[in-house]
Amino acid sequence: MVTRLSLDDLVSGGSVDRDAIGSWINRNLSGLFLEGPGAAVLAKDLLGGQSQADLALARLTVTGYAQRRSRVSPETERGATMLSPYIRHGLLTLREVYDAVSDVPAKDRDRYVDELLWQEYSRHLYNNVGRAMRSSLRYDRQTLSSPRDDGRPVELESWADSPMVCLRRVEEELQQRGWIVNQTRMWYASHWAVRSGHSRVSGEDHFFRHLLDGSRSANGLGWQWVNGEMTGKVYGFSRSQVERQAPDWCSQCSLALSCPIENFPSSPPTILRKAVTYAKVREDLGPADLQVSKEVSPSAIWLTGELLSLRQGALVDYPNLPAVFIFDRTLLQKLQLSSKRLGFLLETLAEISAARELELYLGDPIEGLAGRPLVTTWTPVPGWKRYAEKLCPVVIYPWPWLVRSRGAVSLNSYSAWRSSSPLMIERFSVEE
Ligand SMILES: Cc1cc2nc3c(=O)[nH]c(=O)nc-3n(C[C@H](O)[C@H](O)[C@H](O)COP(=O)(O)OP(=O)(O)OC[C@H]3O[C@@H](n4cnc5c(N)ncnc54)[C@H](O)[C@@H]3O)c2cc1C
Repeated sequence: MVTRLSLDDLVSGGSVDRDAIGSWINRNLSGLFLEGPGAAVLAKDLLGGQSQADLALARLTVTGYAQRRSRVSPETERGATMLSPYIRHGLLTLREVYDAVSDVPAKDRDRYVDELLWQEYSRHLYNNVGRAMRSSLRYDRQTLSSPRDDGRPVELESWADSPMVCLRRVEEELQQRGWIVNQTRMWYASHWAVRSGHSRVSGEDHFFRHLLDGSRSANGLGWQWVNGEMTGKVYGFSRSQVERQAPDWCSQCSLALSCPIENFPSSPPTILRKAVTYAKVREDLGPADLQVSKEVSPSAIWLTGELLSLRQGALVDYPNLPAVFIFDRTLLQKLQLSSKRLGFLLETLAEISAARELELYLGDPIEGLAGRPLVTTWTPVPGWKRYAEKLCPVVIYPWPWLVRSRGAVSLNSYSAWRSSSPLMIERFSVEE
C-alpha cells in the first residue's frame, strides 16, 4: 500500500516550520523510527535543506585544516567542516566543495581534497561491491562473540552513562547532534570492535542509525578500516589520542588515575587475508552523458535520499514536472533510523516542496512509481539499481562523480585507487 503524505503543515509562506517537524514524524511515520511512538527528536543544530547546505558552503574555510582536522575538544578549535550531511544527501556535490577550496594554502587544500577523495573512493568501492560491503572485504578479523552482542547494541547506548569521559561525550554528541568528528568515529569504532571485540556490523549499524551523514559506503569503509578488514592492520585507541586531541577531557574523568585505556589494545589473534582482490576493476559508473528515450515523454522526476540538490539537472531541466519522493516503509521498518535523520530529510524535502511541486509517499517505491515515465539520476547504490531495473526511467542523468576513471582501476585500497585517479593526475600536471 502506498500512502500520500502532505507537507502542507510544514511549509508556510515559502519557508519551513522546523518546530512542526517532530510532530509530523510522530503522526506520519509512527513505528518506523528508533525513538518510538510520539518520541521523535531533531538534531541539535545541524539543519537540513538546500539553503542550509549553501550557507555552510559559503562559510566554508579550510585554512588551518591540515593541523586541526583531528582536534576534538574544545569545539572552537576543531578544523572539521561539518559538510558531511549535505554531501551525503547530494545537497552539495563533491565537485562543488572541491571547487570552493581552490584558493587556500596548498597544505590545507591538499589535505582537504584528500578527504573529499576518501568520500569519492568509498562511493566507487560501494558501487562496485554492493551489498558485500557489509561483510569483511579484504581481511577476516576474528570477533569475540558476546552474549549481549545480538545486533541490538545495548552497551553502545549505555555509553551515554559511561564513567569514561572520552566515550560519554562522543556518545552524547552522536545521539544529540547526529554527527561526530572523524577522530572520535575512529576511537569509538576501535573501542567497540578492536578492544571490546564486539561485532563490527552492530557498531556500524548504531552509527548508521544516528549519523545524519550515515551511508553504507563511507560508514562501511570507516568501520572496516578501523577493524583491520581493509589493510590487515587494526587502528588502536588509547589515552594518548585523547590527551592530544581533547586535552581537557582526561582531567574531568573520574577514571583519570585508573584509566582503562592507558595502553593500546593488544593485536587481535587472527587476521587473515581473504582470497579476493579488487586490483583490476572495470567500473560501471553509469552513463557519462544524458540518456533520453525518444518515444515517451516523462511525467515525473524520481528523487532519492542520495541526491536532493535543487541544482541537479533533472530538477533544473524539467521545472514543470512534479518531483516524487517515496519513504520506503519496509526499509524504514527494518532500519529503525533515529528520527533525527528523518527530520533532516524532511527539512530538505519541505524546502523542495516550497520551491516546486513535490509528491511525497510512504510505501513501496515500485508500487508508487509504476507506470509513470520517469526522469532520474543514475545512482551508485544497490537499492536504486534494483528499482531502476524495474521502473525503466525514460530520462537518466549521469551521477556527478568527482572522478570518472578510464580503464581498469584498483579499488584494493584508497592509496592504490587515488594514484590512478584522473583528478590527481590533472592537479599535479597543472601544478608542475
Ligand atoms: C568508523 C567511521 C565511520 C564513518 N562513517 C561515515 C559515514 O557514515 N558517512 C560519511 O560521510 N563519512 C563517514 N566517515 C568518514 C568521516 O569521519 C566523515 O566523513 C567526517 O568526519 C565528516 O565530517 P566533516 O564533514 O567535518 O569532514 P571534513 O574533515 O571537513 O571533510 C570534508 C568531507 O570529506 C569527506 N571525508 C572526510 N573524511 C572522510 C573519510 N575518512 N572517509 C570518507 N569521507 C571522508 C566527507 O564527505 C566530509 O564531509 C566515517 C569514518 C569512520 C572512521
